[in-house]
Amino acid sequence: MPELPEVETIRRQLEPSLTHKTIQEIRVFWEKTLSGASQASLSPVLQGQVIRRVRRRGKYFVLELDRGFLVYHLRMSGRLYVSPDAMGEDRWVRLSLTFSDQTHLIFSDTRKFGRVYYDDSLHDLETKLGPEPLKLPVEQWHELFARSKTKIKAFLLNQSKLAGIGNIYSDESLFQAEIHPARPADSLTEEESLRLAKAVQERLSTAIQHEGATISWYRKPDGSQGESQKHFKVYGKYGRPCPVCGKELCRTLVSQRTTTFCSHCQK
Ligand SMILES: [Zn+2]
Repeated sequence: MPELPEVETIRRQLEPSLTHKTIQEIRVFWEKTLSGASQASLSPVLQGQVIRRVRRRGKYFVLELDRGFLVYHLRMSGRLYVSPDAMGEDRWVRLSLTFSDQTHLIFSDTRKFGRVYYDDSLHDLETKLGPEPLKLPVEQWHELFARSKTKIKAFLLNQSKLAGIGNIYSDESLFQAEIHPARPADSLTEEESLRLAKAVQERLSTAIQHEGATISWYRKPDGSQGESQKHFKVYGKYGRPCPVCGKELCRTLVSQRTTTFCSHCQK
């Protein structure tokens, strides 16, 4: 699933081609993709609205319009790209926006788990999301961790605690910070919290520089792959030697998610 760095990469690449575009129509090719509305009910609302800003919140891609917001959640296999063709350039197009200059923002989604919705405000989205990990000052993380007894890896995955971190960057960050994924969040010392906060910010920033990780469906809007996966230390590397101590990397389940870590380096 695309995490913060992947969605941010998509946002950065699409921003120049979407900002100030005027929406002419929305076309829905898979009904469930559009939640809370239908093509018929949403078309008149969107028609003529201008995209003011191309934003991201957590793993959500957000188009700020004159009077509301179109929110995209890519989930497992959602892709976004601009095309001269309203039907897009692949077989899995679920929804498209047509602009007055006859270009189209295509939402393609092989697995169909992705969702798009329109809202007058971002209030509902904000109430379910925690702070942005790249914006939260590192000295404030300890206070967050100290209020929770949940396993630290589960904490990092919980979007209402911190928005945008998924399985990849939680494993990579915990490894860098040398913290065991099953530690209760409130057991972290102030020094460990600081180390983890810095590790998360560093992993996310570096992954944005590498334009995200292509391990399954993720592609940049121009169709090319990200480079972040080439720099993974532990994610998906169960059974291989730890790059620091050489011992075999372990695997466990946290929040039903496969978690790879080094039992020797991470305490
Ligand atoms: Zn190790």
